[in-house]
Amino acid sequence: MDTRVIWETIRGHSAQVDMFRQSFGQGRMSHAYLFVGPDGIGKRKFARTLAQCLFCESHSDEELLACQECSGCKQFAATSHPDFFHVERAEGKAELTLDVFLGPQDRRGREGLCHDLSLRPMASDRKLAIIDDADFMRTEAANALLKTLEEPPVNSMLILIAANADSVLPTIRSRCQSVRFSPLSNEDVTSILLAQESVQDANDAAAVASLSDGSLTNAAQLLDPAIRAIRDKLLSQACEKPLNPLTTSAAMIGSVEELGGNTGVQRQNAILMVRFLIEFYRQCLVALSTSNQPVSPAVEKFVSKMSDDETRNAETVAELLERAMLCETQLNQQMPFALSFESLGEGLGRIERGLNP
Ligand SMILES: [Zn+2]
Repeated sequence: MDTRVIWETIRGHSAQVDMFRQSFGQGRMSHAYLFVGPDGIGKRKFARTLAQCLFCESHSDEELLACQECSGCKQFAATSHPDFFHVERAEGKAELTLDVFLGPQDRRGREGLCHDLSLRPMASDRKLAIIDDADFMRTEAANALLKTLEEPPVNSMLILIAANADSVLPTIRSRCQSVRFSPLSNEDVTSILLAQESVQDANDAAAVASLSDGSLTNAAQLLDPAIRAIRDKLLSQACEKPLNPLTTSAAMIGSVEELGGNTGVQRQNAILMVRFLIEFYRQCLVALSTSNQPVSPAVEKFVSKMSDDETRNAETVAELLERAMLCETQLNQQMPFALSFESLGEGLGRIERGLNP
């Protein structure tokens, strides 16, 4: 088996692979790393792959490869490697608790990650722990971990993972080597969604990807049936010729209210609504300028209803796009969503009727 295949499923982070290969090759291996970057971009998967490479008995550390056949690789794949630990927030818990590091109250110091790491490795020559949700540690838990970071057991490695580096205690941050991860490209999100079979249609996948900000977590949210139903309804209204300002804005306001949440959540959902429109108009513009490109049914419907005047059509869609983008700016500037949507509906309606916005 080609051992390089182990990194092939990791998309968008080849610079980080090179960095680790190079620094391990130069004998510069840190006791602790802090992986930072938005949720849903593959930090955890990267950390696990790195761990497997370090446990692989067929390859040296600097090769950063895993054969997937040795006992180290097999134990790791079966999640039974005795020298590997992975801790994270328990489901429904708001924080990574002290018990995780020091064991439960009646077994303090005799269990937990800090204790496990202090013991000799059993199957390999090192111990490795992934600490997920490192930005959800309160002072007590952080101080327990800090002791381990200050005097790391020999041959141990910690990989902390956090979406928000600012929420990691500075004393912890300063003892870790930070490794930044960037959001995935739209192309990567699209192909991952198709490979996972979360979406069947390539156009659908591309549309979700372009709204996902390079995060698979966001993409999964966009694939939520309730959100998709709202999007479909909104786009079918955008396809009306001419668009009805009142029903469009009322539907957008209603959807945000239906999704609920506090003011902040409502604003986020309102921005999502308007981004559905922005993405839709963008796709319409592309469809108008290039023929023979597959388009989504909504885009096809919208474009088919336009006149024969190609130049005028492109200008109109560009104006619609610009107006929708203005709405996103207003929402970001804290304009109340109901007001922004009313003015958006009116603006879009005017543009479609050929009047000045
Ligand atoms: Zn191996």
